[in-house]
Amino acid sequence: MDLSKKIREIQDFPKEGINFKDITTLLQDKEAFTYMVDTLAAQLKDLNVDIVVGPESRGFIVGVPVAYKIGAGFVPVRKPGKLPAEIVRYEYELEYGKDALEIHRDAIQPGQKVAIIDDLLATGGTVLATAKLIEELGGEVVSINFLIELAFLKGREKLSNYNVKTLITYH
Ligand code: 5GP
Repeated sequence: MDLSKKIREIQDFPKEGINFKDITTLLQDKEAFTYMVDTLAAQLKDLNVDIVVGPESRGFIVGVPVAYKIGAGFVPVRKPGKLPAEIVRYEYELEYGKDALEIHRDAIQPGQKVAIIDDLLATGGTVLATAKLIEELGGEVVSINFLIELAFLKGREKLSNYNVKTLITYH
């Protein structure tokens, strides 16, 4: 199935000059949604993944059904101030300013095999920060899987130490 046909492109959202890839049109389509989950799950077969980590918030939507399908647990990575228990924070640079992500300190045990799943790879900053959090807790990032890759932003270069797979690539 050609999933790229199910992605809606919105010009100048959320800012002028950005051509936003809207995945809601894929998610609402029952065949496309099932195919997306099954294909991502198949990519993780044989990796003995203990935990799927999804960054807020579209990483939850894509990551949770895949975790269920492969029999793994799910751990959310969130924007600051959202997680209730003791957290670990990772701060990273943006083009203008800084951002941060947090994970619960007890969410991953040392040696656990972890897959990161998010909807879209742009610059790679979000998922690199997510990988750093997992590694700080002693987890092993065995795979990073995206629905969409914006290849022209070269996020893969930032993630060159990892096993990165994507379903749809925009050049
Ligand atoms: P990065 O950190 O790789 O630069 O940005 C990726 C993050 O931004 C992802 O978590 C993703 O949800 C969000 N993102 C950036 N651009 C888009 C877009 O065009 N469509 C969607 N669905 N998400 C985007």
